[in-house]
Amino acid sequence: MTTVAVLGAGPAGAAVALGLRRLGYAVTLVSEWRRFAALEGVSQRVLEALRGTGLHHALAQAALPSQRQVNWNGEQHAQNVEFLLDRPTFDRGLREDLSLAGVELIEGRVLAVQPCAGGHRIELEGRQALLADFLVEARGRQAPAIGRGLRGPETVSLLNRWQGTPGDTASAVESLADGWAWMARRADGQCYWQWTVDVASAELPGKAMLLEHCRQRRRDSAVARRFFGAEEEVDLQLHARSSTAILSPQVCGDDWIRVGDAAMAVDPLSGNGIFQSLSSALQAPTVINTLLCKPERAALAQRFHQQRVEQLFLRFARIGRDFYADEQRWLDQPFWQARRQWPDAQVAHAEADFARLRIDRAPVLRDGFVDEAEVVITADQPLGIWHVQGVELAPLVRRLRNEPAGQVLAGLTVEQGRMVRSWLLAQGFKP
Ligand code: FAD
Repeated sequence: MTTVAVLGAGPAGAAVALGLRRLGYAVTLVSEWRRFAALEGVSQRVLEALRGTGLHHALAQAALPSQRQVNWNGEQHAQNVEFLLDRPTFDRGLREDLSLAGVELIEGRVLAVQPCAGGHRIELEGRQALLADFLVEARGRQAPAIGRGLRGPETVSLLNRWQGTPGDTASAVESLADGWAWMARRADGQCYWQWTVDVASAELPGKAMLLEHCRQRRRDSAVARRFFGAEEEVDLQLHARSSTAILSPQVCGDDWIRVGDAAMAVDPLSGNGIFQSLSSALQAPTVINTLLCKPERAALAQRFHQQRVEQLFLRFARIGRDFYADEQRWLDQPFWQARRQWPDAQVAHAEADFARLRIDRAPVLRDGFVDEAEVVITADQPLGIWHVQGVELAPLVRRLRNEPAGQVLAGLTVEQGRMVRSWLLAQGFKP
């Protein structure tokens, strides 16, 4: 029987493990616990995606609704509700979901992974090595790099956590001359302030003085003073983590795949890290199933995963760039200069133009495997769209070039007609 080992029990590793169990694979997941307690903000859409994946225990107690305030470019907005995920609770819940799905869990540290006859040998701390036919690398940002890949400006986030007085759950984000800060308070009084700065220009003091330096920066900020008040910060702790955007140069081979932050880690400004890690993980079981059962399609399956990861990474990098560019007060500060130009000058959302739609063959997901089909390539969807509401778009777009729309769309059901018309109009089609 084929054995699959998943390294890392974050949302990405968990989503792949559950997906593989549904396909009937025997899955062993190895992970240690995260080394610090973080709180992370996610949208309603992310919660729904997590639920859709089957991660019910993970969400049962971890998500607290919070009104998020944004202070950017000197303006203040109260944005819609975000949900604060308590990562230790969430991560514990992930493991419950995994155990219930029949995933074999090994709590421990992976020391090294080596290729061996017919698969991989995974060296574990204080235990016997594990052998697996297929490897899923989901150790997040701690996954060993396999080359430089594409990297955004080097960035570090300093997380301060302390116990304050209980109050309402709230969160806020603030731009600063040399970076930005995210802050949150849980109803039980746990407070978080996360300061994200440019590694090259931040001029941070040594470790011994860093906590005091952060405290001073908090005192200097009117937004932070208002948010936390003048209360005592009990049991103040600091944890530094890299938050550089990183795209791995290769994310799939014949018998391995990288998912989540191990494949691409995004700038935390997007507040989309978990969503993106899930996106790459949700497609992975089908890619793995294809690699294992239909090796003749290996190149196609690898191309599918690689292209989707790259495209998602660049799309979110460009959206992040535009958000940085909205901050106009510190145009000559290195933090803002570097980030409003990276990764490139391409627009995040290209204008629709029906005349420029192209038809091409591309990898798609069909009946549980990666397959190839004709898709329609649009400026905004360079990997192509295969169908809408079950209607294949390539033959339809081809016919629309020579035939009247009424005739082309005649055979569709009411619902299909509505969805396809709406897609066509969004592509700039003029009936
Ligand atoms: P992870 O969640 O990192 O999981 C990896 C797992 O692998 C961990 O359990 C780890 O302990 C384990 N592991 C690592 N090394 C080993 C080893 N050698 N042996 C065994 N196990 C190992 N996302 C949001 O959606 N909202 C936010 O507000 C947000 N804020 C962020 C702030 C910062 C500063 C950063 C850096 C990221 C933030 N993110 C946020 C992103 C989010 O944390 C990640 O995108 C997401 O957790 C990635 O999931 P993952 O499953 O790929 O990896």
